[in-house]
Amino acid sequence: MRVITTVQEMVDERSRWAGSTKVGFVATMGYLHEGHLSLVQQGRKENDKLLASIFVNPAQFGPHEDLARYPHDLPRDLLMLETLGVDVVFVPTTQEIYPPGFVTYVNPTGPLVEEAEGRSRPGHFRGVATVVLKLFQIVRPHQAYFGQKDAQQVAVITRMVTDFNLPVKLRILPAIREHDGLAMSSRNAYLSPQERIAATVLYRALQAGRVAFEAHPKEGPLIVSQAMTQAVLEEPRAHLEYAEVRDPGSFTRLEELRAPALLLIAARVGPARLIDNFLLRPDGTWDSGIRVTE
Ligand code: AMP
Repeated sequence: MRVITTVQEMVDERSRWAGSTKVGFVATMGYLHEGHLSLVQQGRKENDKLLASIFVNPAQFGPHEDLARYPHDLPRDLLMLETLGVDVVFVPTTQEIYPPGFVTYVNPTGPLVEEAEGRSRPGHFRGVATVVLKLFQIVRPHQAYFGQKDAQQVAVITRMVTDFNLPVKLRILPAIREHDGLAMSSRNAYLSPQERIAATVLYRALQAGRVAFEAHPKEGPLIVSQAMTQAVLEEPRAHLEYAEVRDPGSFTRLEELRAPALLLIAARVGPARLIDNFLLRPDGTWDSGIRVTE
């Protein structure tokens, strides 16, 4: 496995794979867990060359967010990626991605970036779209792997690929969960043992939302968000930011309960801000993620 730290070397390496080779790409911010690794494993199966990146992107963090304390363990991450057969890991510095003089950003607009996570984290998706476009330009993947765990990020990147006619196929894979339902996240590292237990309330709230959705389809999204809210209120260590039902593509609020739909939740538990979702696919089946066995 080759570890590359400069854009120039990455571009040179990529140009050596010209021709018919299928190139897969998994973008991460490191501190890898089984959620990331599920993307890598799928990418390994579906491509001739597999590339992963590790880059904590300052442009997607707000001024009061956790950029400075975001967890990292590069040697451990590299070992995991090597074990899974990744060909190249791109680990650029901030200077490489945002050199002096950098001024051009991708600025998605509308509900997709103004609501839900966009409301809580202004500028977040501008940072995400910008770095993903840059990485796509540098890596030029045929297929790129993202997690449904970050549903709004998936919607923003899907929209950007369409809007800019980017020649990449997106592969969106289900959220990987701990055995008790907590969605895996690098930010779970911030949780104390008690907070870790409390954090399972997000999953319980989504399950309650799904039950309400299926039991009262005529009564509209309010009953679903109320069921999720009620579940979170039962956990004193959790502080709800939002519990909503939205369209998975446009991120507008649903007026009625129908498929496709996204049940979305964001809550603070101790020092961690956690997000999670269940997706009701157009065919009426749910993607509620995959729980690892104990
Ligand atoms: P991050 O390192 O948080 O930027 O995540 C890198 C990629 O891994 C993104 O596409 C995420 O959506 C995906 N990801 C994060 N957590 C999970 C999870 N629990 N299950 C599946 N994919 C995930």
